[in-house]
Amino acid sequence: MLAIEKVRKVFGATTVLDGVELVVEPGEVVSILGSSGSGKSTLIRCINGLERLDGGRITVDGFNVSKPRELAEARKRSGTVFQLFNLYPHMTAVGNVMLAPVEVLKLPKKEAEARARRILDSVGLGPRADAYPAQLSGGQRQRVGLARALAMEPRYLLLDEVTSALDPEMTAEVLGILAELARSGTTMLFVTHEIEFARRISNRIVFLDGGRLVVDLPTAAFFSAAGGMAHPRIAQFLSKMQ
Ligand code: ADP
Ligand code: MG
Repeated sequence: MLAIEKVRKVFGATTVLDGVELVVEPGEVVSILGSSGSGKSTLIRCINGLERLDGGRITVDGFNVSKPRELAEARKRSGTVFQLFNLYPHMTAVGNVMLAPVEVLKLPKKEAEARARRILDSVGLGPRADAYPAQLSGGQRQRVGLARALAMEPRYLLLDEVTSALDPEMTAEVLGILAELARSGTTMLFVTHEIEFARRISNRIVFLDGGRLVVDLPTAAFFSAAGGMAHPRIAQFLSKMQ
């Protein structure tokens, strides 16, 4: 499991994450909601070891991200897709997707390429596998980003607002693939502003407010009047979203 225990993160005088506790079990889809600046991206970056923790502990299948010797193992288990595509412009889609399997997993190139093509196919990009990022639409680039994370066969997929830079049509393309991944049992920690979509695919929803994880509820309870909606900050957040 992915276990976040009493995590604290401070930037200067600002406490950005304040005692965050969250467990994601294999097979779960957990969405993280919260206003801009509430600490969602920082939490994802902490899970990846991109930020040093100021307190608490994060383990991925028991590997502690704060221990240099365990971080590589933790990272292999958690694939991350960010809002911006960050593809290598001088490499084709297939080149981008096979890079980490070759460099990190030490797969033979042929095997990595076959895997990359299979995964690109599964996100609907089989015919565009040899295109360069500049030749792809935003939605296609984000699907390459998703394929790149999936090529590492992560146990946990971390998604940070992967559709917020996309127009509605491209957003629908990418959400369609995420829905399929959720159905097939991929474990996901999903930061999003797509509330209706989160409602459809999540087992649980957590709400971050000013760096505190104030609510962690099964999806139906989160949206019920007596559950999440009884929390004034959540009611306010959801009303602004509509
Ligand atoms: P969210 O993703 O929920 O919008 P972030 O995690 O990006 O929120 O940011 C949470 C808070 O931390 C914000 O107030 C932001 O300005 C601050 N912050 C994030 N990264 C840094 C950084 N590298 N240095 C200083 N402050 C940061
Ligand atoms: Mg963010």
